[in-house]
Amino acid sequence: MISVEEALNTILSHIKILGTERVSLQDSLGSVLAEDIIASFNVPPLDNSAMDGYAAKAEDLQGASEQNPAKLKISGELPAGYRSKNLLKKGEALRIMTGAPVPEGADTVVMQEDTREDNGNVEVFKEVKSGTNIRRAGEDISEGQVLFKKGIRIRPAHIGSLASIKKALVSVYQRPRVAILSTGDELVDIDGDNSDGKIVSSNTYSLLALVKENGGIPVNLGIGRDTKEVLKEKFLEGLHSDIIISSGGVSVGDYDFVKDVLQELGLEMKFWKVSMRPGQPLAFGMIEGKPAFGLPGNPVSAMVSFEQFVRPAIRKMTGDQNLFRPLITGIAKEELKIKKGKKHFIRCVVTIEEGQYTVSTTGAQGSGMLTSMAVANGLMVVPEDKNCVNPGDTVKVQILDSDFGATKEPAY
Ligand code: AMP
Ligand code: MG
Repeated sequence: MISVEEALNTILSHIKILGTERVSLQDSLGSVLAEDIIASFNVPPLDNSAMDGYAAKAEDLQGASEQNPAKLKISGELPAGYRSKNLLKKGEALRIMTGAPVPEGADTVVMQEDTREDNGNVEVFKEVKSGTNIRRAGEDISEGQVLFKKGIRIRPAHIGSLASIKKALVSVYQRPRVAILSTGDELVDIDGDNSDGKIVSSNTYSLLALVKENGGIPVNLGIGRDTKEVLKEKFLEGLHSDIIISSGGVSVGDYDFVKDVLQELGLEMKFWKVSMRPGQPLAFGMIEGKPAFGLPGNPVSAMVSFEQFVRPAIRKMTGDQNLFRPLITGIAKEELKIKKGKKHFIRCVVTIEEGQYTVSTTGAQGSGMLTSMAVANGLMVVPEDKNCVNPGDTVKVQILDSDFGATKEPAY
């Protein structure tokens, strides 16, 4: 049986980045930029005022104070969005609003709070140095600058910055379509009849959500009965997507046909079974150049396997350089006995106590207990050579929920 590391390396070695597409800026949130962005003009375009106040010459303000204000003649008024046509002369001040371009001849802006207007003149109560309260042309983005490099995942601040240089269309990596098949005769869909020992296919929904969360486009193939014919038909439909994932039917049971059917359709199996818990019976292979994952059926196993293997694959396909969940180091709070020889992923709750991450389990770790995944904000990763974790031990945790933390109070 191969290790988690080997399995991950094998998968990633078969994953290729998808092609690129041009999308409107509004639609680019969460995609990965596929071009270097070069700014074609300065932002801000001109030196402009950072304050409401008066544009002036610093030399006219030398020695100004409460007792001995500098008195300047107001030459006019300039709102934001307009330019002054006149050269500011010695002894003059131009009333100016935040964002308005500083007129020629002025080299400083006095805050309104340090002045008093008086009958066409302004008294300035403070000496202000040259360059004060002026935002320089290009100080945010300068013409010719590489604003963003390809490979970043686009966040709202990127979108705002791209808008400020008029990038209405951006080139991004395509998002993979991910076909999701749930297998099992015991399954019904959310609106199906579950009165006779049937269970609702929760995997369909958790996997759809995981695909979406990670930038893929889910394609729901629904539920496939445990017959080769049905599964064959469903997987053939899945071949229209970029990635195929199934859950269930991949273990050693009498009705576990997923591997056989995929192989009959031409799957080149790369591995089956990974030395981990939960999630051991995982099959991975390539079919018609597309990666196919046979995830285990147990709801927690399916999610944990997705986290470890499908998530990095989707992210690599979308051009993301950041494949993995954030990993933190914390202190275990309780004793935990485990079976040596496998990598364990323990559902846990990370909190912050006195500036330190502390880690407790969510309780019973049965792989059918899906609600524990909802309680957990992380997966404690316990290496193969350990058979226990003791209180006070240092442990590694993959963070599943970026909102984690001990306090949910505002920062101020
Ligand atoms: P299997 O690997 O097909 O034997 O499935 C293992 C366990 O996971 C069984 O108890 C199944 O009922 C359960 N299971 C399989 N598929 C799903 C699903 N889509 N949603 C919820 N539970 C499932
Ligand atoms: Mg089954």
